[in-house]
Amino acid sequence: MVDIYLIKKFLKEKYGYENFRNSQENIITDILDGRDVFTIMPTGGGKSICYQIPSLVFEGITIVVSPLISLMKDQVDELIRIGIPAVYINSTLTSKQYMERVNGIRNGEYKIIYISPERIETEGFINLINEVNISFIAIDESHCVSQWGHDFRPSYKNIKPFIDSFNKRPVIGAFTATANEEVKKDIISLLGLSEPNVYVTGFDRENLELKVFRGIDKNVYIENYVNNNREKSGIIYCSTRKRVDDLYNKLKSKDYSVSRYHAGMTDKERNENQEDFIYDRTNIIIATNAFGMGIDKSNIRYIIHYNMPQSLENYYQEAGRAGRDSMPAECMLLFSPQDINIQKYLIENTLENPIRIKYKYKQLKIMSDYCYTGECLRKYILRYFGDNNLQENCGNCSNCDDNLEKEDITTEAQKIISCVYRLRENFGTGIAAEVLKGSSNKKVLRYNFNKLSTYGIMSNYKLKEIKELINILAAEGYLRITDDKYPVVKLTKKSSEMLKNKEKVYRKVEKKTEKVEERNELLVMLINLRTEIAKQEKIPPYIVFHDKALMEMSSYFPVNKMQLLQITGVGESKAQRYGERFIEVIRNYMAENDIEIDENKLIKKNDTSNVRTTSSKSNKIPSHHITYELYKDNKSIDEITKERNVKRRTIEEHIMKCALEGMEINLDEFINQEHEKLVLEAIDKVGASRLRNIKEIVPDEISYFEIKAIITKSQL
Ligand code: ADP
Ligand code: ZN
Repeated sequence: MVDIYLIKKFLKEKYGYENFRNSQENIITDILDGRDVFTIMPTGGGKSICYQIPSLVFEGITIVVSPLISLMKDQVDELIRIGIPAVYINSTLTSKQYMERVNGIRNGEYKIIYISPERIETEGFINLINEVNISFIAIDESHCVSQWGHDFRPSYKNIKPFIDSFNKRPVIGAFTATANEEVKKDIISLLGLSEPNVYVTGFDRENLELKVFRGIDKNVYIENYVNNNREKSGIIYCSTRKRVDDLYNKLKSKDYSVSRYHAGMTDKERNENQEDFIYDRTNIIIATNAFGMGIDKSNIRYIIHYNMPQSLENYYQEAGRAGRDSMPAECMLLFSPQDINIQKYLIENTLENPIRIKYKYKQLKIMSDYCYTGECLRKYILRYFGDNNLQENCGNCSNCDDNLEKEDITTEAQKIISCVYRLRENFGTGIAAEVLKGSSNKKVLRYNFNKLSTYGIMSNYKLKEIKELINILAAEGYLRITDDKYPVVKLTKKSSEMLKNKEKVYRKVEKKTEKVEERNELLVMLINLRTEIAKQEKIPPYIVFHDKALMEMSSYFPVNKMQLLQITGVGESKAQRYGERFIEVIRNYMAENDIEIDENKLIKKNDTSNVRTTSSKSNKIPSHHITYELYKDNKSIDEITKERNVKRRTIEEHIMKCALEGMEINLDEFINQEHEKLVLEAIDKVGASRLRNIKEIVPDEISYFEIKAIITKSQL
C-alpha cells in the first residue's frame, strides 16, 4: 500500500509545494504499486516530480533516461539543492569523473541516475547496472523512440533490449509532452511497456496567452515587442539559419541583450549561447527549432515564432517553453503565407519516404489552418491533442481576447484589389504598392502605370504600410502571392466575392494601451541576490529559486524560516541553504521602508491574487496617477493615505514616481534646505543605492521619505 502521507510530505519538504497537480498523485502511486505508466503531460505540466518522488520511496535506484545532456546537469543540480542525491552519466565526463561516479553508484550514494540513451549500449554500464538494485526506469521525452514523432532518436531503440536484460524487471514509466495516436502506440510497443496505465492530462496551459498575427511586418513587430519587454526573457524561433543570423545582427546592432542558436554554429558557440540565456546573461535567444528540447528555464516570458513551424506538435512544444513557472507568458506566431512554402521546401528536401512526406503534409495543413482559424486558438490546439474539456472561449488568445481591436480595412482592400486587377495580376507586391502610392519609380513610368485609375489612390499611406496591407490581404486569402522566383500578386475567388457582396474586411490590431508595470523594488533586490548566488554556485538562477518564489517573497515579506517555508517552491533544503540571505534582504528592505516586521504572522498560502508581478497586464489607470489627481487637488500625503486606505509609504512612492515621470510635483515642499545639503554630502560618501547607508550618517530627524525626495530631486 502506498503511503499517501509520505509522498505528500516529500512534495512539501523537498519541493515546497502544497498540492499535487493534474494526475501526479495517481501516477506516483501507480509507479510505487509496481505498475508501468505512460504519461502524456504538456511541457511545464510537472512530469519530473512524477518520477523523482517515487525514487525517494523505492528501495533501489531510479534510472532516468533523458536525451539531452544540458538538461541532465540542470536537473541533477536542482535535485541536489532540494536534497535528493542524484548524479548523471553521459559522454561529457572525463574517465576519472566517470569512475568516481561508478564507485558512488556501487556504494549506494545516489537515489537517481540520469543517463543518455547512448549509454545504454555500453557494456561497462550494463555490467554496472547488474551489480546494483534498480527499482524504476523513467524514460523522459519518450516520443523520441517513434519515427512518427518529431524528434526521432535511434538510440531510444536500445531501451527495450536494456529493460529486457534485467533479471528482475524494474517498473517502467514513459513520459512525453506530445504524442498523437501513432506515436502513442509506438511508445507502448517499442519500449515494451507492460499493461501500462495511460495518463493523458489536460493539455491546457492556462498561463500562456496564445496569439497569431497574420501579414504584419514581422521585424517591426519584434523590435517593438522586445523594446517594450527589455527585461524579460524570451525565445524567438525562425525557420532558417539565415533568418536567425539576420535578426540577430539587427537586434545586436541596436544593443539588445541577445544571442543565437542554430545548427550552423560550432558546438562550443552553441553551448555558450545557450548557457548565457539559461543563466540570464542574455535576455533573448534567436534560434531555429534545434534549440530548446529539454530547456528547463522556468522564467521564459515570451516565445515569438517568426515563422510558422512544421506542425502543431512542434508549435505547442516550442511555445510551451514559456511560463514553466506558471506565471503569465505570451506566445506569438507571426504568420505569412510564405511560411508554408518554407516548410514545404524543408519537407521536400529533407525527407525521402513518401509515406512520411504525406504525413508531414497533413501536419502542415493542420498547422496552417491554426494560423487562419477564427475560433479560440486554445480550443483548436486542445481539441487536436484530444483534450475534450473544452471551453468555447478562453479569453486568453488573440481570437477571443478583447485586448485586440478589429480595424475596418474594407476601403483599402477595395483599392488594392482593383489595382491588382488593373495590373492584370502580372506584378509583385512592390510594384502594386508603388502604383497605389503614386510613386514615380522608373518601372512604374516605363509601363505607363501612372495612367492607371488606381495610380496614387493610396498616396496618404507609407509604401511600407501598403505592402503590409497587401500581405494581410494575402494572409486572409483575398489575394494570392505566387511561389515563383519573382512572386506575383493574384486575385482569388474570395476577392471577387468580397467586391461583389460588398463584404467588410477587418484586420486585428493590438489596442494601444500602455502597459502598466509597477516596479517592485524588493523583487529587483531578490533577483539580484539570486543572480549573485547562481554565479557563485555556477548554476542557472532559476535553480536557486523560481521567479514565482521571489515574487511571493516580495509580496508576503517572510522574515524567518517558518514563514519562508510557506512560499511556493521553498522546501527544507533550499530554506536551509539560501534562506538566511534572502531573509536578510527582505528585513533590510522592510526597515528601510518602515514596514512593520511581524515574526508570528502566518503568510497566506495558495493565494497569489495579491502577488505583484512585473508582467501583469492591465488597462486600468495606474495607481500613482490616481494619487497624482488627489495631490493636484491640494491634498496632503496624510489625507491621500487616508482617502485611498493604503500605507503612507505607498503614497510616498507614488509621489516620487510621478515626479520622475515629469509630472508637476513640488519636491521642495518635502525637503528642508539644510537637510538637503547634509543628504547630498552623505551621498557623496556612501552613494545613493542604499538608503539605509545614508540614513545612518545623517541626523535622525531626516526621514527615509525626505532622503528619497532629495535623491529624486537630484535626478530630475
Ligand atoms: P515538465 O512536465 O515539462 O517536465 P516540470 O517537471 O519541469 O515540467 O515542471 C514544471 C514546473 O512546475 C516546475 O517548476 C515544477 O517545479 C513545477 N511543479 C511541478 N509540480 C508542481 C506542483 N504540484 N505544484 C507546484 N508546482 C509544481
Ligand atoms: Zn481563446
